[in-house]
Amino acid sequence: MMPSSGPTYYCWSCYGRNDHASGPCDHCGDEIEPPADADLTTRLVWGIRHPNPDVALMSVRRLPMVGDSSAIPALRAAVIDPPDPYVAAAALKSLLSLSSVAEEEELLRSSVSTGPPLVASIAREALKNM
Ligand SMILES: [Zn+2]
Repeated sequence: MMPSSGPTYYCWSCYGRNDHASGPCDHCGDEIEPPADADLTTRLVWGIRHPNPDVALMSVRRLPMVGDSSAIPALRAAVIDPPDPYVAAAALKSLLSLSSVAEEEELLRSSVSTGPPLVASIAREALKNM
């Protein structure tokens, strides 16, 4: 018989998969749940590196709606060292909405030459509108 496929919970520390929502992680032993004081921005920033790309995309896209500029470094990191090219492209759009083309000029210029095609094209478009 196949093991029961209950819900999967991802560890706050290591993103390891667990079959229990709280308590020590099966992989790293840390607490699975986010810290009680983790605000929405912190939770969405955590989501950027989520192993499920749908969660990562959702997190990246929600950050501009929250409007907290403390997410800017994590979005930059997701553009430079992306978990996935679609996440990188969405992260760049969100970054430009929370920051500005002028502020991100250096990142945009390097994305044009070294980023994945989707990211390079968003960067090129943004630089055109400077
Ligand atoms: Zn863990």
